[in-house]
Amino acid sequence: MRIVSAPSEVRASVAAARSSGRSIGFVPTMGALHAGHASLIDEARNHGHFVVVSIFVNPMQFNDPRDLAAYPITTQADDSLCVTAGVDLLWRPTVDDIYPSGFDTVVEPGAMASILEGKHRPGHFRGVATVVLKLFNVVAPDFAYFGLKDFQQLAVIRHMARDLELPVDIIGCPTIREDDGLAMSSRNTKLSADTRRSAAALSNALTGVVTALRNGDDVAEARAFGLALLSKQPGIDVEYLEIVDRDTLSQLTSNDSSSAVVLVAANIGGVRLIDNLEVDPARVGHRKGPA
Ligand code: AMP
Repeated sequence: MRIVSAPSEVRASVAAARSSGRSIGFVPTMGALHAGHASLIDEARNHGHFVVVSIFVNPMQFNDPRDLAAYPITTQADDSLCVTAGVDLLWRPTVDDIYPSGFDTVVEPGAMASILEGKHRPGHFRGVATVVLKLFNVVAPDFAYFGLKDFQQLAVIRHMARDLELPVDIIGCPTIREDDGLAMSSRNTKLSADTRRSAAALSNALTGVVTALRNGDDVAEARAFGLALLSKQPGIDVEYLEIVDRDTLSQLTSNDSSSAVVLVAANIGGVRLIDNLEVDPARVGHRKGPA
């Protein structure tokens, strides 16, 4: 595995892979890698691509400087995980590689970016879209792999790829969970033993809401049920729990919840976690399709 920093080194390495007939699979990350990231890498590798992983904690997508400062960094463990997972090229750019002096252009995603996460983290998706487009322009991947764990992020990126005719297939991959259901996240390492136990309540609440919807509860009842479940768990400060259409992320307009996804964000002992669950994940393929 090669580890590089400068965009020019990435371009050279990718060009060499291409000239030997390889397709390029790209997994953008912020590091502190875990089995969720590894599943994205596996998906890319299993399709035979030359696998490029980027690790960049993108300052532009953090609206809270304390959150950025606290973001976990596990450089050596990340290198090992990438080697074990069969990554071909690890790109670890510096802030200056991505935002050199004078950098002054952003991607402003539309309405979908101002609700849910976008409402609670103003400017977050501007930062995400800007960095992802820049990373895409350097790597020029054929396929890019994103987790359904960050459901809205995947939707925003698919929207951007479609709107701007980006020549890349965006692939959504299932959420990898701990045994008690907690979605794997780099932020989980920041939980104390106590808050780690409480955090399982998030996925339990999602399962409860999805079960209620599948059993025919109406959307308002199911949402109230989920919020009640979470309110029983001490130390969980819910930012939102919403039941929305999986394609548009807008509120459901009927009680037909077959296209619904339940999204939750909560602060647990100072650690902000998000998760989601679809009512009918098999309804449409995750691999491609509209935002
Ligand atoms: P991050 O490093 O948190 O920016 O995540 C990098 C990529 O890994 C994103 O596409 C995430 O959605 C994805 N990811 C993070 N956690 C998980 C998980 N538990 N399961 C699957 N994918 C994940």
